[in-house]
Amino acid sequence: HLDVTKAVAIVENIKEIIDANKEFLTKLDSAIGDADHGINMSRGFTKALEKVRNNQYNDIGAVFKDVAMTLMSTVGGAAGPLYGTFFMRASMKLAGQKEADLTLLAQAFREGLQGVVALGKAQLGDKTMVDALTPAIEALEAAAKQGLPLKEGLKRALDMAEKGMKDTIPLVARKGRASYLGERSAGHQDPGATSSYLILKAICEALG
Ligand code: ADP
Ligand code: MG
Ligand code: MG
Repeated sequence: HLDVTKAVAIVENIKEIIDANKEFLTKLDSAIGDADHGINMSRGFTKALEKVRNNQYNDIGAVFKDVAMTLMSTVGGAAGPLYGTFFMRASMKLAGQKEADLTLLAQAFREGLQGVVALGKAQLGDKTMVDALTPAIEALEAAAKQGLPLKEGLKRALDMAEKGMKDTIPLVARKGRASYLGERSAGHQDPGATSSYLILKAICEALG
């Protein structure tokens, strides 16, 4: 089960994995964007971790709510509001919960994804974070339906996120800065799909 301690561990892991991949994310964004995705994400999760470490929490939703507020206020560009919305919508589903099982986590992340889509209007195949998040959350839901343990569900979700991330390589971007490049955006992995995969990896490791 996910509890408050593990929720904080998730934020720690995300900060670490984003920092370890800061240059990689920025390199991906330099090919089809403005070379700031790693910097944006690192700044956001550094601040989010500071905030979460300096607080006491009674429920999981409150942890993710603080993450959401911090991302919205510190990460510029497209990704800040989008990830902020993801964590905000997920936090609303987790509000007041001291524990979450796979079913609840899948519901929370589904809400988060719906928030991302409502804000960014990206469809599957537009070469965005949605391409990694969507198959991952579908896998979480399927695993929950099968009654699988949380850890197994997350592992399956991570595999699907990785596939979704790699599948962005041949795509032509239809949303965000990369879309300005038109056909020239093909042949590059999407930075946001990559950070989504890394975030899921961090969550997986915190609960593993
Ligand atoms: P910016 O492009 O403003 O510099 P970032 O570099 O931090 O912002 O983030 C870029 C990433 O944001 C892209 O790789 C893509 O995955 C994601 N993104 C951009 N626009 C959208 C959108 N409308 N919907 C979903 N994701 C988006
Ligand atoms: Mg950028
Ligand atoms: Mg930018």
